[in-house]
Amino acid sequence: MRVSGQCLCGAVRYRGDAEPQFQVKCYCTDCRKSSAAGHAAMMGFAREAIEVKGEVKEFHSKADSGNGVMRAFCPTCGAGVYAKNAAMPTMIFLRASTLDDPDLFSPQLVVYASRAPAWDPVNQGLQAFAESPPRG
Ligand SMILES: [Zn+2]
Ligand SMILES: [Zn+2]
Repeated sequence: MRVSGQCLCGAVRYRGDAEPQFQVKCYCTDCRKSSAAGHAAMMGFAREAIEVKGEVKEFHSKADSGNGVMRAFCPTCGAGVYAKNAAMPTMIFLRASTLDDPDLFSPQLVVYASRAPAWDPVNQGLQAFAESPPRG
């Protein structure tokens, strides 16, 4: 699929032509806090398939799995644009919230479903893990 998106102000943009390797909604506490919503919706692509333009600020933290996670956001408008996970160094995780066409996102998997707040329920019918999936 052709994928493109940008932050709220447009200073950070990305584009690519590739199939997402997975599409996930994560309800972990860090994703909730950084997403400004109940969960983060992310599309994982091969890193080299996505071209990012514009300067981002990076926030580094450790996931519950112990893996280092980097979340990139626009320093001007604050919108989170993508993330990288040290456990999957060849991948980039685009935030579905920044897609030009948000309907490109089709979630397949829910992780940290046990932490979903009542006001942002987990979709019925999706494969859901209470915490992280077995392979981390
Ligand atoms: Zn921006
Ligand atoms: Zn998360």
